Amino acid sequence: MKKCKYCGKGINDNLEFCQDECKNKYVKMLEKDSPKIKYFTFGIILGSLMMFWGVFSGSSLKTGFGIVLMGITVVLLPFTTPETIAVLGYQRSKLMGRFLGILLIIVGIWTSIP
Ligand SMILES: [Zn+2]
Repeated sequence: MKKCKYCGKGINDNLEFCQDECKNKYVKMLEKDSPKIKYFTFGIILGSLMMFWGVFSGSSLKTGFGIVLMGITVVLLPFTTPETIAVLGYQRSKLMGRFLGILLIIVGIWTSIP
């Protein structure tokens, strides 16, 4: 069964959203999200560089900090891929993104403790 792109509720095959409200919200969210993509990319790149720097220099603090940085980026700007949106719906994939971000922060803190 197809799912509403916004809330993830099951819908009729020839529809994309369960109601007009979901469609409007989805379009608004996309408009709101697009300018933030560069910050998201920046945060992820910075976090992974930091993480690799930490790994190569053998510093668990730097590695952990890099992971935390990526986690914070994902929690603040949970951009999800079109694939996850198709499976879970927009709202659920955002929640999922937040959850993964929090997980990254926990892993990062745990990593930074020698
Ligand atoms: Zn819906």
